[in-house]
Amino acid sequence: MYDVIVIGSGPGGYVAAIRAAQLGMKTAIIEKYSTLGGTCLNVGCIPSKALLDSSEHYHNAAHTFKTHGINLSNLKVDLKQMIARKDDVVKQNVDGIQFLMKKNKIDVHHGVGSFVDSTTVKVTKEDGKSEEIKGKNIIIATGSKPASLPFIKLDKDRVITSTEALKMKEIPKHLIVIGGGVIGMELGSVYGRMGSKVSVVEFMDSLIPSMDKTMGKELQKSLKKLGFEFFLKHKVTAVESKGKEVTVKAENGKGETIELKGDYVLVSIGRKPYTEGLNAEAAGVKLNDRGQVEVNEHLQTSASNIYAIGDVVKGAMLAHKAEEEGVFVAEVIAGQKPHINYNLIPGVVYTWPEVASVGYTEEQLKEKDIKYKTGKFPFLASGRARASMDTDGLVKVLADAETDEILGVHMIGPRTADMIAEAVVAMEYRASAEDIARMSHAHPTYTEAFKEACLAATENRALHI
Ligand SMILES: Cc1cc2nc3c(=O)[nH]c(=O)nc-3n(C[C@H](O)[C@H](O)[C@H](O)COP(=O)(O)OP(=O)(O)OC[C@H]3O[C@@H](n4cnc5c(N)ncnc54)[C@H](O)[C@@H]3O)c2cc1C
Repeated sequence: MYDVIVIGSGPGGYVAAIRAAQLGMKTAIIEKYSTLGGTCLNVGCIPSKALLDSSEHYHNAAHTFKTHGINLSNLKVDLKQMIARKDDVVKQNVDGIQFLMKKNKIDVHHGVGSFVDSTTVKVTKEDGKSEEIKGKNIIIATGSKPASLPFIKLDKDRVITSTEALKMKEIPKHLIVIGGGVIGMELGSVYGRMGSKVSVVEFMDSLIPSMDKTMGKELQKSLKKLGFEFFLKHKVTAVESKGKEVTVKAENGKGETIELKGDYVLVSIGRKPYTEGLNAEAAGVKLNDRGQVEVNEHLQTSASNIYAIGDVVKGAMLAHKAEEEGVFVAEVIAGQKPHINYNLIPGVVYTWPEVASVGYTEEQLKEKDIKYKTGKFPFLASGRARASMDTDGLVKVLADAETDEILGVHMIGPRTADMIAEAVVAMEYRASAEDIARMSHAHPTYTEAFKEACLAATENRALHI
């Protein structure tokens, strides 16, 4: 009898298992694939960042090195090697999780986990053999899979998802991306930087629509420079694939139709929770109408000893959100009283420039009728950004009009994925814009742009603009 069984070894599941083991509980983890780490490590965060880094190196070598005084000739992409390096990065990471399981004395069971009842899970291996294990507490961390539209046939050859886009055999000539969200913009960038024509068809009126509107607008400007073309407010109506050609039809709401022809179409319209094969009903675990496992504020399901975390429950589909929930649930099971501030989970898009955001967007503040003031600072005015030739973008700080408390920070620019951590710390400690404005920021760094935006929000007293 285990104290805790975790089903799924993504960032939610493996972190939950480690925390449970740290708290002295006898823990097992079940993973249906041969490698641990889930979507994030195998076909998500890590491989996409590996390809983003490689393609950015190429892009800089081709376009900005000359200005830096570095001349190269015969520059070309070796895609096979690029993908092989990505695979190696993935291997290092998934092997690392294997090591962490061993170190924390967590039993790893490979196979599909399905409930027999609320304390028994059957693990069915690839060869069909199965075993049953029992746990006092069970954590569902089965994650998500790419979503599609009913009329799209994902042949995974020309009509592909993010998983196939991470192991392409050739650089697309014309990649059509359906969906202007995070995954589409990141993977579109990978191939756009290496010469693909990229066309984006998005239903909403801006890119990365869940983020502050300024971010989507700025990102669109930068990606246009990379050669992207955009069809916003367009609803895809048909996707056809014939030989090496794909056709995407979309309409714009005014009855006008566009027809795009390319060699690959990436369907990146979001992800859906994954519970196939879990047999949740046998344990009395209820799903909601969106297919998510229904949980209360303790992430407890309708069966009191069963919890669920990560992409399979409501909330942002992010690895670090899943990780926080993994720690949270292990601590709840151990009788502790942990807390997660969901408003302060940052969101990042690893395009170049990077986009990073935490707290309320301007649109949300308006909707909630909260009076706010805005401070902005463009990277064009940052000495550090000029030195590295990364002057696209800005930092936008939203602070309470009366108390000056920082309510939201939205950044687009160089290394904002790392810079946003300062905003998270500031907001966790409920800092005012003036608090940050009065702290010394090393010069020259990109972080000075955050300080300057806080100065601008305080009394419109930015120094360098
Ligand atoms: C291309 C791409 C890029 C991304 N980039 C980022 C990023 O930069 N930053 C970020 O925060 N997020 C990113 N994400 C999202 C991130 O990958 C997910 O939010 C995260 O992986 C969710 O973690 P999880 O533990 O809930 O589930 P998952 O990582 O999906 O793991 C679930 C695991 O459960 C296993 N499983 C499912 N059912 C069973 C079963 N019945 N029995 C046994 N095992 C089972 C699955 O095989 C899988 O290994 C990206 C996603 C994609 C697709």
